[in-house]
Amino acid sequence: MAAPGDAAFRVTWPAISDGVALTTPDQKGKAMSDYPNLLAPLDLGFTTLKNRVLMGSMHTGLEETQDWNRVAEFYATRARGDVGLMVTGGIGPNPEGSVAHGAAMMTSQQDVDNHSVITQRVHEAGGKIAMQILHAGRYAFTPDCVAPSAVKSPISMFAPKELDEDGIEKQISDIAACALRAKQAGYDGVEIMGSEGYFLNQFLVTHTNKRTDRWGGSYENRMRLPIEVVRRVREAVGAEFILIYRLSMIDLIPNGSTHDEVVQLAQEIEKAGATIINTGIGWHEARIPTIATSVPRAAFAWVTQKLMGKVGIPLITSNRINTPQVAEEVLATGCADMVSLARPMLADADFVAKAMAGKADQIAPCIACNQACLDHTFGGKISTCLVNPQACYETELRIEPASTVKAIAVVGAGPAGLSAAITAAERGHSVTLFDRASEIGGQLNLAKQVAGKEEFWGLVDWYRTMLAERGVTVTLNTEVTADALAGFDEVIIATGVVPRDPQIPGQEGGNVVSYIDVLNGSAKVGKRVAVIGAGGIGFDVSEHLVHDGDSTTLNLPEWMREWGVTDPAEHRSGLAPEGPQPHAPARQVTMLQRKPTKVGKGLGKTTGWIHRASLTMMNVQMIAGVNYEKIDAEGLHISFGEAREKPTLIEADTIVLCAGQLSDRSLADALEGRGVACHVIGGADVAAELDAKRAINQGTRLAAAL
Ligand code: NAP
Ligand code: SF4
Repeated sequence: MAAPGDAAFRVTWPAISDGVALTTPDQKGKAMSDYPNLLAPLDLGFTTLKNRVLMGSMHTGLEETQDWNRVAEFYATRARGDVGLMVTGGIGPNPEGSVAHGAAMMTSQQDVDNHSVITQRVHEAGGKIAMQILHAGRYAFTPDCVAPSAVKSPISMFAPKELDEDGIEKQISDIAACALRAKQAGYDGVEIMGSEGYFLNQFLVTHTNKRTDRWGGSYENRMRLPIEVVRRVREAVGAEFILIYRLSMIDLIPNGSTHDEVVQLAQEIEKAGATIINTGIGWHEARIPTIATSVPRAAFAWVTQKLMGKVGIPLITSNRINTPQVAEEVLATGCADMVSLARPMLADADFVAKAMAGKADQIAPCIACNQACLDHTFGGKISTCLVNPQACYETELRIEPASTVKAIAVVGAGPAGLSAAITAAERGHSVTLFDRASEIGGQLNLAKQVAGKEEFWGLVDWYRTMLAERGVTVTLNTEVTADALAGFDEVIIATGVVPRDPQIPGQEGGNVVSYIDVLNGSAKVGKRVAVIGAGGIGFDVSEHLVHDGDSTTLNLPEWMREWGVTDPAEHRSGLAPEGPQPHAPARQVTMLQRKPTKVGKGLGKTTGWIHRASLTMMNVQMIAGVNYEKIDAEGLHISFGEAREKPTLIEADTIVLCAGQLSDRSLADALEGRGVACHVIGGADVAAELDAKRAINQGTRLAAAL
């Protein structure tokens, strides 16, 4: 099923890219010939890439473990999956430029030896890999950080030191030495990180470069450093070595580059010796989402397209390209010569191999949630993937054929049960999956209804494909009893959760509904809504209600208007002068919580601000520190603080309960009462802070061990 219709993934491109339309229909049966552009080799003169897929750089935290076997296996797994070229996570050229104290650097012979383990394993697997050189400048999390000028970043706690002439020369020679060491370690190339607001980007724009010497002032002066770095790196590594320059093509910050400046820089970077130019979109401090799941697919390919034909070297485009079909259309419509996929390579190491084999429908989809990758990185944890817990755990989480084949029952077809079922079946077990619902997916089916969460449709589709592919017997519309589970060798209970009853006086009235009824469409919701509970589901429900089925994620021009993004050829940095122009909210929503803390504090580290900003644009009121006194025909009556002060009426036609969840352990308890052992996973195990990441991880790990 390709619901919500092909329209789910239709992207109407803005006029600036000639109205090219991208669609992602059902991919079953697509074969190699369906991706002629994507799977075509790319001849770089001295070497050839086997296809047009770049695994973009990701900070996984693996390099910092110093477990080089583990790092090598992560990259080699993706090389075996036939990706054309990979770029490592950012490696620092010196301590002041590294992203943080203890971050990976390439500054010694020991580093060369360590990285040789990676390159050797990748080459044995038939792959190619470049090392990213990342100088973070004022984004470096260290009091020793350096920058063109002493201008602190809004997302950093350290003010950088302004570099003098000698200091600048040191940075250039450290980057060139780093590149040479990368070559000695066996890398096929380097990527010089010049975008996302890092060091080289900081020299380019007056936002961060206030200098008046030869490194500041005019644009010629401001671009001197990036050009000099590329020239000196090329000099250090010689001609036959891939040199990618990642260039910020739309800064999305005040006083960023114009399109003409981007073109000028790209041409100079080419002359200085780059082999390929990769696209960077937005600085880290930009307040416009660039990779979150609510960003339309391939939302920025038109930005790269504007540079096509203006340089003679290949261009790579990036951001929210997560299926072979979208990637193919991006290339077929002339937006770039190559596509960068980063997170999709965590979700499925065999992305390219499956596309080549006509098995694109079996590619585990990256849903762009950031929950297990970027949120982990920024939380100081090793990245992995919500959809694929093996990512970055290749050496530890092994899924191998079972020594004894067992009959396994899995009850509950939500994310925990689905991942347990397909993993157990992959190992050769005979698996039967039960659910009382008429379709698989559990709470994923609620998530996919939310505007901006359309990628969940693809995730449920993928599970459906994999259940069939691995021969799982799926028994839907079935309320399983303890008796029915008697003949199985192992029983896995993944019965999920039930909504928590907040026990508010008056909640049995006809104006009170559960989040389930709202998201599955069975409840009629009025124009004025009070949402009780501001967790992930409270936010989702509010988003759903203000959009009323109208998702800008499916409409790129609308999405650009909503967030104030425009053509950088018309307005510097790609920021619309009129700012964000969201459409009028479909309803007046008030979201409440009892805690006095900031509403949305518990949301994802890298996405919480987007949810808050999006709802603020829709005039959603967020009220913390309340007591729920009662509900009546007028709406919701609240008070504040322990003394229950300031009685207030939130006038509402509908009150939606999103007060968290409790484990549904009824079946597990019945089995245990009979002395039948079972494995309880997902929300049925622990409801608090449940999310699909924990559910899928737990289901996969259990099944890998049975
Ligand atoms: P949740 O995040 O635990 O939030 C529950 C909300 O209900 C809180 O705001 C809580 O705030 C309130 N609450 C708890 N007990 C209550 C009571 N007795 N009466 C009234 N209010 C009460 O749970 P959820 O929103 O149901 O989400 C479930 C899980 O799915 C969460 O772990 C969430 O992270 C995950 N999820 C994630 C996303 C995402 O975008 N990543 C989206 C949806 C769901 P107070 O106690 O302060 O009132
Ligand atoms: Fe994609 Fe989410 Fe996996 Fe990250 S955790 S790779 S965003 S699916």
